[in-house]
Amino acid sequence: MKASRIVLASRPMGIPSFENFRFEEIELPALNEDEVLIQPVYISVDPYMRGRMNDVKSYTPPYQLNEPIVGSIVGKVIESKSDNLKPGDLVNANLPWATKIIHKSHGLFKIDPNSAPPSYYLGLLGMPGLTAYFGLLDIGRPKEGETVLISGAAGAVGIVAGQIAKLKGCHVVGLAGTDDKVKLLKEQLGFDTAINYKASKNLRKDIKAACPNDVDVYFDNVGGEISDAVFANLNFKARVVVCGQISLYNETRMQLGPRFLPIILTRSAMVKGYIVRDYTDRYHDGILQLTNWYREGKLTYKETFVKGFDRLPEAFLGLFAGQNQGKMLVQVE
Ligand code: NAP
Repeated sequence: MKASRIVLASRPMGIPSFENFRFEEIELPALNEDEVLIQPVYISVDPYMRGRMNDVKSYTPPYQLNEPIVGSIVGKVIESKSDNLKPGDLVNANLPWATKIIHKSHGLFKIDPNSAPPSYYLGLLGMPGLTAYFGLLDIGRPKEGETVLISGAAGAVGIVAGQIAKLKGCHVVGLAGTDDKVKLLKEQLGFDTAINYKASKNLRKDIKAACPNDVDVYFDNVGGEISDAVFANLNFKARVVVCGQISLYNETRMQLGPRFLPIILTRSAMVKGYIVRDYTDRYHDGILQLTNWYREGKLTYKETFVKGFDRLPEAFLGLFAGQNQGKMLVQVE
């Protein structure tokens, strides 16, 4: 049985390109006992994968040259030699980018398609949702009436963080890169206001206008100059949740910005980075709460689908060009 897969052909310098990926045809063996054959239905592309394309020490090992890219996938079992899974079952796991995958049943998370759309396990009810949940609530600790500002607000993590902040009774402001995203945040996702940072002539001033009482919680997905403008508007005892720094992932030279430690000092502010994996032992509680909020209609979600396995590299590259609203996914079937 043949399958296509996508391997890392070369390591990018700066912004990744199609040349960094290569499609290969492979022959799959027959299934062994306790193995299943999976056909991906949705494949997630995520900013952290950019870091794995570099050969550097990080919290996840780098992708290996000429080996498949691996990421979170929702797939359908099409053949099974396992007692735990049957054809038609939907599963979620970190799996190679391939049109067919053989895997042991162990390590595959079975999805209940009746509890939420299966793709949500890659977004709202998956890693991005958990990242928003723990980062905002555990580190940001927003209190009713406080101002929460979110950069990268219209993305997979940002739209969940913003909605949770609204559930906590906060004044919520989003930063995003297009007018359509600003509209989405304000009109569909309940943000009090949002700013198109690309259209802003003075972001620091525009943030001040949107946050007249200053920023109590900054949920940072982006870093760089956007964060410089936010730091100038931090309130006394502000909490900065360092979730992501996507504006810097493709930099080839170290960026220097303003020295902001005096701001942290004089405003008694707290800045904390985290990796969602820090919360592994609490994932169950997080998924339960996110699922309940979703079922109660308190959380909604937005996804951008790119159709076709062959378009995986395009979807991944699109993250760095702001082409997604909400979670960026490839729909394979
Ligand atoms: P996402 O926001 O859905 O997609 C990326 C978005 O980032 C783009 O749509 C674009 O939106 C924005 N962007 C891209 N390049 C940019 C640049 N140079 N400057 C400013 N904005 C830029 O991605 P996500 O999955 O929700 O992840 C958001 C952030 O959280 C990322 O930094 C990611 O690495 C991080 N993250 C961290 C953890 C953790 O464990 N700490 C877990 C998941 C994700 P605009 O159109 O608004 O520019």
